[in-house]
Amino acid sequence: MMISVDEAVARIATATKPLEAVSVAIDESRGLVLAESVSSDRDVPAFDKSMVDGYAVTDSDLAAEASSGGTVELYVLEEVTAGATPTQTLTPGATTRIMTGAPLPPGTGAVVMIERSTAAGELVVLDVTGVVPGDNVMLRGSLQRAGAEALAAGARLGSAQIGLLAELGHAVVRTVPRPRVAVLATGNELVPAGEVPGDGQIRNSNGPMLTAAVDECGGAAIDLGIARDERDDLRQRIEHGLEADVLLLSGGVSAGVLDLVPEVLAELGVREVFHKVQLKPGKPLWFGVHGFAGHDFGTRSGGTLVFGLPGNPVSSFVCFLLFVRPAIARLAGRADTRRTRARLVDAFTRRRDRPTYHPAVLDESSTTSTVRLARWRGSADLAAFAEANCLAVLPVGDEVIAADTVIDVVRS
Ligand code: AMP
Ligand code: MG
Repeated sequence: MMISVDEAVARIATATKPLEAVSVAIDESRGLVLAESVSSDRDVPAFDKSMVDGYAVTDSDLAAEASSGGTVELYVLEEVTAGATPTQTLTPGATTRIMTGAPLPPGTGAVVMIERSTAAGELVVLDVTGVVPGDNVMLRGSLQRAGAEALAAGARLGSAQIGLLAELGHAVVRTVPRPRVAVLATGNELVPAGEVPGDGQIRNSNGPMLTAAVDECGGAAIDLGIARDERDDLRQRIEHGLEADVLLLSGGVSAGVLDLVPEVLAELGVREVFHKVQLKPGKPLWFGVHGFAGHDFGTRSGGTLVFGLPGNPVSSFVCFLLFVRPAIARLAGRADTRRTRARLVDAFTRRRDRPTYHPAVLDESSTTSTVRLARWRGSADLAAFAEANCLAVLPVGDEVIAADTVIDVVRS
């Protein structure tokens, strides 16, 4: 019984739970999901500070300005630079020369920018026209209170979040780790990309493609090379791959005489969840699980998700985007948010007996996104996908899909 794409996605999701959290240094955390709520260990800023280079003045000197033509003449007590500490309290008639980021002396009402000053010996004349209390002052705790949550569990760590963690003193944080994804190409005909194929041989394109795709979506790829279509070689390499969180096999899952992968997986105790999905390309997809506790896949306890991807590079690629990428995201504690909708530019007229995932170019530069189908010469045409940036989802049917129809799109 062939299941639908949605059913396959749902069954994979049921078997996939986020990995257990680990502690990592923040400089290793980019792209990971935070597994704990993080709060500030102190007020931010931790002291009232100046936001400009200038002169700290009291409120009463600001108020006196109206009677003196917009300027005040003040005695300079001291100079405070960032990292230093004021030693004197500000009183009316006095000012402290202060630099950006420096702590303000007690008694400060506002800071007047240095551009508005004229030095006169030990005195300074400040133009305070329009300056009001609070100007250029950042009060203690105005950005963040000690103990308040700064980032919630589930936040994805990008550069801004990592900067915030550093600011708050979290050099090490709990995160959901990068899923380890082993990649094994299978086939007697395969040689590595750097070699010249002999008679009947082809280069292994799936291995490098899948390891790159894994890294691109936040997994850590482990390249297991090429397995021959022989039980012993397959068994040995698959056993190694079952130490990872995910094992991706390419090839050997169709109906050919040397398509031994499902048998070898069964021998190794990998339980089949489904084989074959109603889509084009990618029908032979095999999915199973290994080492899970319980029968409902409800608890994940260091098990392995095993995907037998079709050998055909295009089919492999489509299956990766539709089924593997969401699973890697889920293991990493995230949702896969690569789906969108767009307006089809040109009508499409071919008959479709299975939902078809067609290479296409998505343009999101204007208010309504558009999608243009790429020229595609069938399942072996990887070059068509190299020019595309998405899969256009063409539902089953005989009719024409008219231009301007809004269709589903999966970004690649
Ligand atoms: P299979 O699923 O093993 O029957 O393979 C289907 C087609 O994909 C055959 O034409 C294989 O030669 C080709 N193929 C299998 N594995 C790879 C690979 N790693 N790289 C490129 N083509 C492959
Ligand atoms: Mg094969």
